Amino acid sequence: MNTPIIVPVSGGKDSQVVLSIALKTGRRVIAVHQDTGFDHPDTYAHLDRMAAFYGVYIYRTNRAGGGMLAFLEQAQYFPNSAARGCTQRLKQEPFAKWLMSINADSGNVEIWFGMRADESSERASKYGSLSATDEFTLGDVASFYNKPSHRRIATIPIKLPIVDWTTEQVFNHLRETGAPINPLYDRGHQRVGCYPCFLARKKEWELVGRDPHGRHTLTHLISLEEKWAREGNPRKFIKVHRRWDVRDFLSETPCVEEDVNDECGWCSI
Ligand code: SF4
Repeated sequence: MNTPIIVPVSGGKDSQVVLSIALKTGRRVIAVHQDTGFDHPDTYAHLDRMAAFYGVYIYRTNRAGGGMLAFLEQAQYFPNSAARGCTQRLKQEPFAKWLMSINADSGNVEIWFGMRADESSERASKYGSLSATDEFTLGDVASFYNKPSHRRIATIPIKLPIVDWTTEQVFNHLRETGAPINPLYDRGHQRVGCYPCFLARKKEWELVGRDPHGRHTLTHLISLEEKWAREGNPRKFIKVHRRWDVRDFLSETPCVEEDVNDECGWCSI
């Protein structure tokens, strides 16, 4: 079978391993990053290193109206488990548009994702009974793609080649192949993507609070919340995070590098 494989790469370890495995098949591989404009600068740099290491071009999909910051300004709320428009607006819609722009459909491409049952209890209950040989469609993975306007792409076959891998196997694969590894893992992060993800655990937010770029981001989010409060936004009583106040992470975790890093991703977005 010579059907080209599309691999969405986040800059994290799991999708990187999937890219590595896909390239070993000898089939044409198309890497694509669903760019929210909200990744850590080290993740963007890592994507460039990945492209060079694997010899691939990594396409980027973007929301037409701007990345995460523009989305927040327009939506006037912080994504949460009850209202999580960010995934659809910043990732799924641009990805669907890109798939249609390259005329992808069930007859001419497959998509390989890097989800693993071992990642979290939520993913264990969702993917725990699956194996790497099981096949799905894009519409099975996310109902968003079942919209009538997306009918052509909803039936694209999906594979989860590392669904039953452990975290250790993933890192071993990267080390054994001499591949670059996103430096955020060495700093304690367990996930890579939006920095921060609004649905991330407290531990991840604490790490963001210790990072120079993360501190700029948190400061910006707090100023956004305060601006909405001044403008009488009825959501003014919602803190940046529902259960804890991220201001605590700024005050309790001083960052010695901050003064020498006054330029960060925020400034150029
Ligand atoms: S990673 Fe988190 S913040 Fe980013 S789009 Fe997904 S749910 Fe939203």
